[in-house]
Amino acid sequence: MRESILHYVWQHKLFIAQQLFTTEGEPVAVIDVGKHNTDAGPDFFNAKIRIGETLWAGNVEIHTRSTDWHKHSHHSDKAYNSVILHVVSEVDGEIFRADGAKIPQLALVYPKHIAENYDQLITEQKWIPCGDKIAAVPGIVIESWKNALLTERLEQKMQAITTLLTESQQHWEEAFYITLARNFGFGTNSQAFESLAKSIPLSVLGKHKDQLFQLEALLFGQAGLLTNEATDEYSARLKQEYSFLKAKFNLQPMTGSQWKLLRLRPDNFPHVRIAQFASLIHLSSKLFSKIVDKPEIEYLCSIFVCEPSDYWKRHYLFAHESPTSDKKLGTQSINIILINTVVPFLFCYAQQKNIQLLKDKALQLLEQLPSERNAIITAWQKLGISSATAYDSQALLHLKKQYCDDKKCLRCRIGHKVLTS
Ligand code: SF4
Repeated sequence: MRESILHYVWQHKLFIAQQLFTTEGEPVAVIDVGKHNTDAGPDFFNAKIRIGETLWAGNVEIHTRSTDWHKHSHHSDKAYNSVILHVVSEVDGEIFRADGAKIPQLALVYPKHIAENYDQLITEQKWIPCGDKIAAVPGIVIESWKNALLTERLEQKMQAITTLLTESQQHWEEAFYITLARNFGFGTNSQAFESLAKSIPLSVLGKHKDQLFQLEALLFGQAGLLTNEATDEYSARLKQEYSFLKAKFNLQPMTGSQWKLLRLRPDNFPHVRIAQFASLIHLSSKLFSKIVDKPEIEYLCSIFVCEPSDYWKRHYLFAHESPTSDKKLGTQSINIILINTVVPFLFCYAQQKNIQLLKDKALQLLEQLPSERNAIITAWQKLGISSATAYDSQALLHLKKQYCDDKKCLRCRIGHKVLTS
């Protein structure tokens, strides 16, 4: 028997209260299971338990077997002197505190189906271990769980933003610029794009923001894409401009090998994305301030419609012509940027400045944006879990990655229903 299920049963009071007796045969009444402790020390603090006629207040330790108490050296650890009850699945010996006192033990009795359901979930190899049972989980449980998951996801994203803010001395525009650049990598080139943004401060780009050509020279040069590639007249001019700007600002470029083209559609080639990014910098200033001032969906969508320079309307790579098209950032790409950059930044800013209205606005944006489309969302939908908006899809992505993949079913509200039914 896994110890985690004993913790779970104890925490949620799923034991059979009428069948709780110590190994000495005294009845046990659990008045308060205590507070679950996930750090060092006993498993539950400040429990209240009546054993026989005596009411005890103290800590509870849980193990699979009695002998685990010795294995974990609790018998010589003063931190465990306040344990009033040892809860186990199997009693295989007596246990004592460091002060020599004997500790009452309880073999936990709980419905058999909970352990069976748990074993099934833990050993199941399906994409979603509870996939066969999720249809029976009430919709209201899933919807309320989505709300909690979304908050968790935003909090996780806020941690990354807070780190960037610390690195940039609380410069919101700089932190936003780096995160936005990362998003322009759309997964495959996210890391490379982030390195690019970190290699060239926003203030340097700001000095040349009126000249799209110079912005391209700075970004393509720093990206390491003006060195080994096939050349034409345009790239040769960019190279020349970059060489001047590089010396002026004492810049260190990345290596071009960090960029990936494999399995990308030409529209997603890093060259096209860098050109779009240059255009966005060219057309906007104080971007994050503008977003905070006007967090309206139509406005936000409009500011990210960035059309690259004429050269990139006819090329996917340097010196490789393509059919002419505007190569604007598409609607789906803009939505991804709003979901992954704009909303978390607005939420984080609102949290730090304590602006509840802006926080609500950030969440509203997710409700206004359509659900993301990817393999994970499709698989959830096949199981009957709907995803109409980005609010849904963000919650479902978080559930899969942070819970299902690690089989954290004991911490999942869907898991709670599956285990107890
Ligand atoms: S974490 Fe929740 S949703 Fe995921 S498999 Fe476990 S019970 Fe199902």
